[in-house]
Amino acid sequence: MTKLANYLEGRWQEGGGKGSPVLDPITGETLATVSADGLDMHAAYDYARQQAGPALRKLSYAERAGLLGDIVKVLQANRDKYFDISLRNSGTVQNDSSVDVDGAIYTLSFYAKAGSKMVEKAVRLDGESAPLAKDNVFASQHIYVPIQGLALFINAFNFPAWGLWEKAAAALLSGVPVVIKPATSTAWLTHEMVKDVIDADILPAGALNIVCGRPDALLDALNGLDVVSFTGSADTAASLRDHPRIKHDGVRFNAETDSINSAILGPDTDDDATGLLVREVVRELTIKSGQKCTAIRRIFVPESKYDAVAQAISNKLKTITVGDPRKEGVRMGSLVNLSQRDAILEGIEKLAKCSDILFDGRTESTIDLDNENTAVVPPVLFGVRNPDDHPLVHEMEVFGPVATLIPYRNTEHAFTLTRRGMGSLVASVYSNQPDFLAQAATTLAESHGRVHLINNDVAKAHTGHGNVMPQSNHGGPGRAGGGEELGGMRALRFYHRLAAIQGSPEVLGKLAQAAGSES
Ligand code: NAP
Repeated sequence: MTKLANYLEGRWQEGGGKGSPVLDPITGETLATVSADGLDMHAAYDYARQQAGPALRKLSYAERAGLLGDIVKVLQANRDKYFDISLRNSGTVQNDSSVDVDGAIYTLSFYAKAGSKMVEKAVRLDGESAPLAKDNVFASQHIYVPIQGLALFINAFNFPAWGLWEKAAAALLSGVPVVIKPATSTAWLTHEMVKDVIDADILPAGALNIVCGRPDALLDALNGLDVVSFTGSADTAASLRDHPRIKHDGVRFNAETDSINSAILGPDTDDDATGLLVREVVRELTIKSGQKCTAIRRIFVPESKYDAVAQAISNKLKTITVGDPRKEGVRMGSLVNLSQRDAILEGIEKLAKCSDILFDGRTESTIDLDNENTAVVPPVLFGVRNPDDHPLVHEMEVFGPVATLIPYRNTEHAFTLTRRGMGSLVASVYSNQPDFLAQAATTLAESHGRVHLINNDVAKAHTGHGNVMPQSNHGGPGRAGGGEELGGMRALRFYHRLAAIQGSPEVLGKLAQAAGSES
């Protein structure tokens, strides 16, 4: 049995004790164990800050972008191995593993390419200088400089590959060393990727660290100038926010948490928009068995379309074979583990008590499994007729292949109900009326990190409701955690400090030179 070692202080270190198992959700086989017992996180963080930070910051942004490009090559060369690990540890079919593995490679490539065009060495200007005195003899210029602390990533189980690299790309490009703590249940893939990159000797010592399991002092050993980026449940985020390093010492904390995302069908009279919505809902219910923070949980349709949409979604779900991802013809694999399965089944039971079941994959014949005790849960579509006073549908995230169809009276009603998610990552809107799409965008933007507008013009080109693209903001207000990630070069802000520099125009001009914007 392999115990996944931790890479800290420039060397592999094994945690003590028996460790926690990393399992195959179909066979129950123990694939590896993890342990962080006895690790010295203070020494590990000091090493990253003191050795790797200065070495990274000695390079220009473009040079660091070159390092990202080298990481991309390593990950591409080992892609098949990562798909195999995903199959065995996450129980995902090839297409779903691709969302994670290829999504990681694409995101890193995006930052490698965008970063290669950066002219700055150590400073980034923010806007123009502003006069503070008559005749502009004294002025203010805002600048961003990279933080000199480290970035700790605490990640969720559902994206062991993308979840690391979508964060590390912006941190490393900014010159900030990274410590990744993957979720225990899927730590193997993250570990393997880190190991491959360490073996390739691309980054300065201490720039990329991994700790698997729950070490003592994971947060205690931080200081006020470090940053933490967390992805996971709202409950865990709330408990981490209470930690003295964050609550008292001001560690910058970004959280991506639960989200009750929506898809809204516009009030169109033609059937095209309905077809576009149905296709996307089925994709979102089944990709990664609905274990995507961005997955559609609520589907809003005009009252007159409720029955037809219920039927259309059910007809498509009936054709999807669910089961062991190793079997040919299986299109939807497993949940990540048995405890997630139990949590999803409990959520389904709760919703069933106050909603109609419109489709229940558990009673269909399209299940292909040899073993009864797996983490496979087929898709379930609920319907509610009383959305205004439904006790759960706007509040409870069932993090699996579960969504609820909801009728609305008019568009105002649809927007009001959507907002009851109290802050979400994404809403998608399906209509061939441009005015309605624009109105939806401006109304929903206040409570969503991303609004995805679909009409016939983009039917083939759009990137998908749930796909997180590095060009666009990822995050959401309120219960979605209040965080922001990606969004092109906006992602770099989290790993920089903003300061207002006040001085004479001549001195401020030197800053512009350092930022490469003036020769
Ligand atoms: P989780 O239980 O909150 O765990 C997330 C991470 O936090 C794991 O690495 C976990 O470690 C760690 N953790 C938990 N308690 C901790 C503590 N006291 N101290 C330090 N670390 C701690 O969430 P999950 O079950 O992995 O993920 C599912 C949830 O994540 C869903 O609710 C989903 O909506 C959300 N999610 C959100 C996004 C987004 O981008 N918004 C993306 C993916 C998932 P262990 O694994 O070792 O327990």
